[in-house]
Formats: sequence, structure tokens, C-alpha cells
Amino acid sequence: MNFDLLVRADYLLTLRHGREEVLRDAALGVNGNKIEFLGPWSPSLTGRKFVDAGRDALVMPGLLNCHMHLPMGLFRGLADDLPFDRWLNEYILPLEGRLVNPEFVRLGTELALAECIRAGTTFVAEMYYFDDDIAEVVDRSGLRGLIGETVYDFIAPDNKSQNANDYSILQRLTERYKGHDRVQASIATHAPYSCSDATLKKALAYARKHDLTLQIHVAETKNEFDGSMKEHGKTPVARLRDLGFLDHPSLFAHCVHLTDDDIKLMARSKATAVYNPESNMKLGAGVSPIRKMLDAGVNVALGTDGSASNNDLSLFKEMDAGTKLQKLSARNNTELTALETLRMATLGGAKGVRLEKQLGTLETGKLADFIVMNLRVPHMQPVHVLSSQLVYAANGSEVETVVVGGKLLMERRKLLTLNEDSIFDRVQEFWEQNRKFIAGSGT
Ligand SMILES: [Zn+2]
Repeated sequence: MNFDLLVRADYLLTLRHGREEVLRDAALGVNGNKIEFLGPWSPSLTGRKFVDAGRDALVMPGLLNCHMHLPMGLFRGLADDLPFDRWLNEYILPLEGRLVNPEFVRLGTELALAECIRAGTTFVAEMYYFDDDIAEVVDRSGLRGLIGETVYDFIAPDNKSQNANDYSILQRLTERYKGHDRVQASIATHAPYSCSDATLKKALAYARKHDLTLQIHVAETKNEFDGSMKEHGKTPVARLRDLGFLDHPSLFAHCVHLTDDDIKLMARSKATAVYNPESNMKLGAGVSPIRKMLDAGVNVALGTDGSASNNDLSLFKEMDAGTKLQKLSARNNTELTALETLRMATLGGAKGVRLEKQLGTLETGKLADFIVMNLRVPHMQPVHVLSSQLVYAANGSEVETVVVGGKLLMERRKLLTLNEDSIFDRVQEFWEQNRKFIAGSGT
């Protein structure tokens, strides 16, 4: 059999049906953008492009990062360890007001995508500003993504008129990526506390009309929860239910402060909870009730959040921290298993963006989005249980080769669609020109 792309590896982890299914000395054959063959290696298999991953190599599904703000990589490490209000109001918001423009988001997105590809992420669900520019960079990088233009009731860098009714960027984004094979447009209502009922309703109507997956931060902090009870007499989730959000496919980021009733509502809904453990820890937001959500039947995905509140975009590190955080908070080491967390970063994410029939596992007929990892490094040896190794020992640096839709985006650690040297030079140049604004912040 001959394929466009053929990969041979010692281990092939399919994650079929969410299970730890491993094939040994296996091959994966791709034609066009789909997987056409999975099975034992045989010399009769040939490929126009052949990746012989070598001894101790693993092929597995690419990871899906279901909550992030791509351009915020440019703010990484800028004002850490300050009280949350000062971090947000004295640094992030004023700097966003001064610096965020189409050039900023393009450069920040390039930096973030280079990091994502290196760490084995093949799908990014993002929300920020100037998302028509962000979508173009994502498209050019070859990654797959859900790109959400933010709407809320405050002045935004791309909406200086403080007019939540201005959908011009969103309309451009929607029209340009209609039917695109990798980039989906999305509308991101920032959060229940930053959007009036009217703003939320209008956004939902737009999402319904254009069949867009919604994104929103939900119940991230105790303050937000208390504010919602005080102002609306209901929890953030109950308010979203009353507005119709639970009947539409949506990614609910954070979901830290939920009542048992909120969890029941979400279990019956089309919403996916996105677990952001590192951001929740770093900003002191709290611990999301993941066990309760999984037991109730809520679909749970995984996300890193932006680089200003994490500070890296490796989902391998996120899986490690997220699993351990659940065990620590429950004082019970069986609270969450490595395989359950790996499922969130693959099939859970795919379901959240309505692509579970195409992504999240390696199966013939599915899209060829996968990564090749080198396990021949000290911290990945010996191999007993792959899910444990991937969640508790890997950090993302083991990823050697990344394929999205049958196309190589990185081969043997060399990025093929992004020029890292140029990105690093431009990032440094950007801050040389704009450092004065940091000095002005916080004073
Ligand atoms: Zn966020």
C-alpha cells in the first residue's frame, strides 16, 4: 500500500473510545488530510513521504488547547506575583489599551503558535481582539483552531467606541472562514460579569444564526460568583441558562465556582467545561470541581489560558498539574486518573468544538492530526503505562514531529511553517520600542 505520508513508530496510542489502546511496531498511513491506515508495520507499506520515527518513538493524537488568548505571549512574565487587581488594572488592561493592534496580535500569535507546535498542540481555541488578523496567522501556521472575537460592555482595543453592537470584525471573520477546513470563526462573550443580558442575548443570536461555537469565561473567581448572586439573584451558570446559552454549543472556561445545581444544568447542556488548572492556581482562583463534573456527565476539555496567567502553553505540563491539583485538593490520590486527564486534552476537547468524529483519537477515516514523541530520553524511561508517562513525566519537549491534516508542521524539532528566528528578533524589537509603557504602568 502506498500513502502520501507514512509514519513508523514503536508505539501507537490510538485512545480509541477513550481507552489506552497501544499498537507496537506500528504504522500510520495518511492520504490527503485523513488517516487511511493504522496497523502493524510491514515492509510492503510505502509513502511518498516516510517518517521513520525510530526506536522508542510514540505516535499519538495531537492535543487540543480549548481556552487561550494567543497574543498574550507578548505579556509573559511582565508583572507576575502582584495582587490580581493590580496585575489586571495597572498592567494588563492599560498595556492592552496602548499596545494591542493588528501588528501586536499577529506577532504574539506567531510566538504562541510556535510554542504550541513545539509542545504537541494541534488545535487552539482562542479568544482575543482583532481576531480576523489572528485567524490569518493561525491559517498560515497550518494549525487547526476556533478563533473567537471578543465582545463585552467595555472599551476594547479593537472597539474604542465601547459599543458591544459593533460586529464588524466578527462579520469579517465569519464570512472569511465559512467552510474553511481548519479555521472556525467563533464569538467570545468575555464573561457574564462583563456583559449585560442584552449583549449576551445578541451574541447568542449571532452564534445561532451562523452556527458558531461560543466561548466565555464562567465562574472563574469567588468575587464573580458573589457578584452574580448579588446583582442577578442567580449563579453565573443559572443566568446563562436563563439566557439560552446552555442550549448552544459553548466552551465555558474555568468553571471554578459552581454549585451542585450548576453542574446538573451543565450535564444536561451543550456546554463544555474547560479546565484551566495552572491559571486557576497562579491567579489564586480556586479548584474546579472536575470529579463532580465528570461523574455528572459534563464534557470537560483542557486549556492553558493566556501566557500572562500560566505562563506557558504546554498541555503536557497542564495535564500534570491539573491531575495532581485534583488529588491534592481532595486529599485522595484516586480523585482523577492520568487517562481521564489525557482524555480531556484529546477527545474532550474535540467534543467541545464539535469535531469528535474527526479528531481526538487515531482512527481510520479521521483527520490526520497527530504528533510523534521521542521516549528515548531519561525522564520517559522505562515505559510501563503510557498515559501515566505522558501526564506525569512528559513536558512537551519530547515532541519531535507534528502533523495537522496530513501536513507536516514540525519535523525532527524543526518548525516548517513559522520562522522562529524572525519571531524572536521581532518580539525583542517590539519591547525595545515599547518598554517605556511598562515603566509607566503601575506607577
Ligand atoms: Zn482566559
